[in-house]
Amino acid sequence: MDISNRILDKYNEIFNNLPSWGEGNLKFGDRLVRISSIATQYYCEQKLELQHHYPLPPTKIMQDGEEAHENVAVLAKPIARDENVRIAVEKREKPICIYEFDVAFVHKGVPIIGKVDEAWFRGGDIELVVERKFSDKLSVYSPYHIQAQLYCLGLGRMGFNTARTSYKIMIFKRGCLDCPELSQRSCAILALGTSYFRCIIGEARAFTYPFSQVGILRELDWAVDFWLGKREAIPTKNGAKCQACEYKSLCSLSLAK
Ligand code: SF4
Repeated sequence: MDISNRILDKYNEIFNNLPSWGEGNLKFGDRLVRISSIATQYYCEQKLELQHHYPLPPTKIMQDGEEAHENVAVLAKPIARDENVRIAVEKREKPICIYEFDVAFVHKGVPIIGKVDEAWFRGGDIELVVERKFSDKLSVYSPYHIQAQLYCLGLGRMGFNTARTSYKIMIFKRGCLDCPELSQRSCAILALGTSYFRCIIGEARAFTYPFSQVGILRELDWAVDFWLGKREAIPTKNGAKCQACEYKSLCSLSLAK
């Protein structure tokens, strides 16, 4: 069996064996965990818990972020998963970028899924994973690292080679949200090797890190224990997060003054 079929079999094994909706044996009756939810655990698990019990409509910031992601990926043609995998493993001289690449793997019996903003492949090697964020501050926070590293880990579990994988976290100021240079991929920050760019509309930074499995596996073990019901939600100890949290008025553990 060739590598692309082996990878596709792994996807199918996960999705064909999921329990029905609402009948999962994970926290909240869930049947799988999204990588973005694990990233939220690193913001505050109490928030994740409240999001489940008291879902709120998406905030303006969330909606803008979602639209901006679509704006950047607009040039990507929708491609079937098996075609994406075939392209990813094909031998080639230069790496190829695939947008919104599906990731699915199982850790300690917990199915974990996500979509990578950008993944750069060459002959089955994953060279670069890119995670884009839109924020008022051009700083990298721990949930960004967790999310990007889980994509790398997941791609490795699916059968891609991560021996020389790096991950890049790109942070754009909110002024960049509607910029046509993003959808046309002509903004200078999108060029490989560029780490800072500023124009009259916005500003962006890109940070690149080598990927290593060791630390992220430890983090994933911790995160998965929550979904397996082995511990209660742990609230943040950072009052600034509570101050910015949309659940601060509902939360009995809030540190917001
Ligand atoms: S208010 Fe603070 S402790 Fe409560 S959910 Fe929000 S971030 Fe967590």
